[in-house]
Amino acid sequence: ATPTAVMVGTGVGATQGVLIKGGQALERAHEVNCIVFDKTGTLTEGKPVVVSTRLLRQMLLRDFYKLVAAAEVNSEHPLAKAIVEYEKKFRGEEENQVLPEARDFVAIPGYGVKATVRNMDIVVGNKSLMLNQGISIPAEAEELLAEAEAMAQTGILVSIGSELTGVVAISDPLKPGAREVISILTSMNVKSIMVTGDNQGTASSIAKEAGIETFIAETRPEQKAEKVKELQAQGYIVAMVGDGINDSPALVAADVGMAIGAGTDIAIEAADIVLMRSNLEDVITAIDLSRKTFSRIR
Ligand code: ADP
Ligand code: MG
Repeated sequence: ATPTAVMVGTGVGATQGVLIKGGQALERAHEVNCIVFDKTGTLTEGKPVVVSTRLLRQMLLRDFYKLVAAAEVNSEHPLAKAIVEYEKKFRGEEENQVLPEARDFVAIPGYGVKATVRNMDIVVGNKSLMLNQGISIPAEAEELLAEAEAMAQTGILVSIGSELTGVVAISDPLKPGAREVISILTSMNVKSIMVTGDNQGTASSIAKEAGIETFIAETRPEQKAEKVKELQAQGYIVAMVGDGINDSPALVAADVGMAIGAGTDIAIEAADIVLMRSNLEDVITAIDLSRKTFSRIR
């Protein structure tokens, strides 16, 4: 392709909300034959909502959520936003009080968060996080988790003062066009894979809904990048599509990193292409544009 063609291609992309950071990114995209999709916020709406709560000890839901939201309000994670939003439900009309202060907040990407609220240690996240914080998970909590997963929901564990106190079930439905995008990519000879930090059960339900055969669950952020490199070693030209901080290493490792526009700044910076409209369809737009610009047929 001539420099003019590349400029035109980049320009056309921009008018369609596909921000291509330079000619090299546009060029590499035409050879992509494998796409690794993040799940949360990429294949799914990324606007998860709390659908149910089960407490394992006597406590008011509003008091429970006050503590959990105080810890999560510092997190950028979509699951955290769902919890913070849900807490508002428990506030009275006149009662516009702020959340209690959280000290020593730590976000552990791929696991959850912890903080000290009202002198209590609050840990919110997945099973691995509880286990590595030395918090034991009662059988009842395990059952509640399994129930949530079977319904394609994510079960979040909450520990208060080192005791497992509640299980929050959060639902994050698949984006409406996702299944069609995957099927079109297949017809374009592009293989789709899903990677997620979420658990096996939820991942399996979502992958099935999206029509994706290959998925990897319970991945750490480094493992997403490792998966990309593994596919490259197998000879694939790999694009990664993601929205989160936890996707940035994989976005950098991929031949073409594509960030969802509504994603975090770190992902957007790490990517070669930004899908400004946050549409999955624009993954196809980007590849199409590149194929048209770099095809040898003039
Ligand atoms: P994904 O790859 O699907 O975007 P992440 O790697 O960000 O997921 O997170 C993996 C899992 O870690 C989540 O499914 C959740 O169980 C837990 N987790 C991560 N961040 C948080 C948080 N802020 N609050 C609660 N749980 C979290
Ligand atoms: Mg994500």
